Amino acid sequence: MSGNESRIQAIYQITNREPMPKTASKRLEEIWATDVFTLSKMQECLPKTIFKSIKKTIQTGEVLDSSVADAIALAMKDWAISKGASYYAHVFYPLTNATAEKHDGFISVQSDGSAISEFPGKLLVQGEPDGSSFPNGGIRSTFEARGYTAWDVTSPAYIMETDNGSTLCIPTVFVSWTGEALDKKTPLLRSIAAMNKAATKVLKLMGEKDVAPVNSSCGAEQEYFLVDANFANARPDLLLTGRTLFGKPSAKGQQFDDHYFGAIPERVQVFMQDVEERLYRLGIPAKTRHNEVAPGQFEIAPFFEAANVATDHQQMIMTMLRFTAKKHGFVCLLHEKPFAGINGSGKHVNWSVGNSTQGNLLDPGDTPHANAQFLVFCGAIIRGVHKYGSLLRSVVATSGNDHRLGANEAPPAIISMYLGSQLEDVFEQIRQGDLKSSSSKGQMNIGVDTLPILPTDPGDRNRTSPFAFTGNRFEFRAVGSNQSVAGPLVAMNTILADSLNWMAEKLEGEMAKGAGLNAAIATVLKEVMELHGAIIFNGNGYSEEWHKMAVEERRLPNLRTTADALPVLKEAHIEELFNKMGVLTPVELASRFETYAEQYILSIEVEAKLVISMVKTLVYPAATRYLSDLANTSLSLKEIGVDFEKESLEKVASLTKSMMDSVSKLMAALASHDFASPEEHMQFLSHTIRPLMDGVRVSVDALESEVADDLWPLPTYQEMLFIK
Ligand code: ADP
Ligand code: MG
Repeated sequence: MSGNESRIQAIYQITNREPMPKTASKRLEEIWATDVFTLSKMQECLPKTIFKSIKKTIQTGEVLDSSVADAIALAMKDWAISKGASYYAHVFYPLTNATAEKHDGFISVQSDGSAISEFPGKLLVQGEPDGSSFPNGGIRSTFEARGYTAWDVTSPAYIMETDNGSTLCIPTVFVSWTGEALDKKTPLLRSIAAMNKAATKVLKLMGEKDVAPVNSSCGAEQEYFLVDANFANARPDLLLTGRTLFGKPSAKGQQFDDHYFGAIPERVQVFMQDVEERLYRLGIPAKTRHNEVAPGQFEIAPFFEAANVATDHQQMIMTMLRFTAKKHGFVCLLHEKPFAGINGSGKHVNWSVGNSTQGNLLDPGDTPHANAQFLVFCGAIIRGVHKYGSLLRSVVATSGNDHRLGANEAPPAIISMYLGSQLEDVFEQIRQGDLKSSSSKGQMNIGVDTLPILPTDPGDRNRTSPFAFTGNRFEFRAVGSNQSVAGPLVAMNTILADSLNWMAEKLEGEMAKGAGLNAAIATVLKEVMELHGAIIFNGNGYSEEWHKMAVEERRLPNLRTTADALPVLKEAHIEELFNKMGVLTPVELASRFETYAEQYILSIEVEAKLVISMVKTLVYPAATRYLSDLANTSLSLKEIGVDFEKESLEKVASLTKSMMDSVSKLMAALASHDFASPEEHMQFLSHTIRPLMDGVRVSVDALESEVADDLWPLPTYQEMLFIK
């Protein structure tokens, strides 16, 4: 392989790299949750009454008795110090998709100058980071910097161990001095409470006497790419934006479909085992790993957990993937579309609701038509997804996800719902007002005598639906790989809460008119299907016909880009939904729009500026050097009378010119300012700046096919995707 100096160096480093020493894998039982301050650890070291009090708070969500905080803090500190920690951090999730933490020592200096370690309850329960540098969408100005973190008792504290030492991490919520939520956790906890209240009301109406708190569960499948750090470090675009802004497709991409579930390369498997071991120590139940569709793409999925814990854990998984990749000489890319023309990465959020008394309320059982509880909850979700589909679209709207949604092999930007043939049939019977039966499980005979006959599921899977029922849960597949799962979970819990309240009111109304419970349910569900059945679509969500039918016949919104989808957050019925459910006040919701719009604007501006600087300082010099080589050769040959082809020279010259023309246009457009609103600015970026960036890319990628390989400055797709 040729390549310029930096690429040759990178390849040399990779092929001569010492393999990571394989440490003997530890037994799960030995390492599971060793770095977590679990209930059982609390039980060991806390007085009985105090343990009982905290356990009750964790399990029922009741307010913590503040008098017990000192004792818990003391026990937590002693445990943390025994694990080598001398600092603690209140960890919270600001409106960026990042994790924020401020570290403080346990040290306390006494009046005589001596130092002791101290951690009173008030420091555990509340912190006060200077929060003015976190995006808050106009809730606070910088001179009003006060923000508070408050301990989220329902998510366990843990030790984060890095090479630099260990820190006790305390999950918290983050609120302003005036009490507004400045983070992603607070609305999540509120949405769970709203859903619990509404679900309990419905279950009681349906005759349940004993109803434990209802929570939502989440299991998020995380897709990611691994690229060797030597290559990534030579690509300013990967370093600054997480995606390649240029790059000619590799001759071999994913067309052979040979990567999905293929054998995991050894270096990657060692990395995965390292990640999993770290996750197990943190009590995070990593369960599934495999190659994904694209070369260099992989997936990790933990076993599902309560939504609030799963959200913290999901954030820790992303941190661990990035951190561990570094140790293994990789860069872990969580961007939704790191490579053009190659599958992007999503995060499939599996979501269900249930409790310890009624179980999973989305489990249809073998005869869903006779399972009233399931039908009511599923019906509530049908109504919610239809009524608030545009909200579901807006909570997955990011500049990265714009490259993925609606493109090949990714969920469409039109939100629809897949139920599978059995449930579609059941709900169709409901619409007809004549619910009788459920088609039953089939059997599959594989035709080989030694193999058992397999039971088949009553419904197939559908990979093209953004919101699909998968047996006992819904899978929201449009979520971006880099996103926090909090936003999508908040939206799903809130629309379900709203729909369940609506159901409860309707059922009560029917029953007040004298209908029995089953007749009331039949009437209400029939109404749901008549008003909202248009959201159900079992066919191919990628097809042109669906896009046409969805928009023209079913009147479903097709919000193609973030610029189209984010303003949904400003619509009156969305504001009313969040306000009524007590999840976000109008001020809090408006601040989210402002923040997410700003993030979109900033990230596209960074990309556009980088396009300009990479062309000017990397691509243009390579192209002109090559041009000068060609021109000199041509001149010398002419002198000695040899006829020489001119096509390459002319092609490189014209591509270089069109590249620089496109760059000039992009620069001129970027200089525009004075937009009347963030909406207008977003539309401009989406409809003017992005196409101009694409225009530059066309010339750059064409030049990559022409310019001598030893002059090309950027690691190629082929190198990044295939050399490990
Ligand atoms: P797939 O076949 O869709 O790729 P995976 O096994 O990769 O499935 O991941 C499925 C995810 O769904 C896992 O995180 C799993 O724990 C989670 N899951 C399973 N059942 C439920 C449920 N009832 N509620 C929420 N999540 C669930
Ligand atoms: Mg999977």
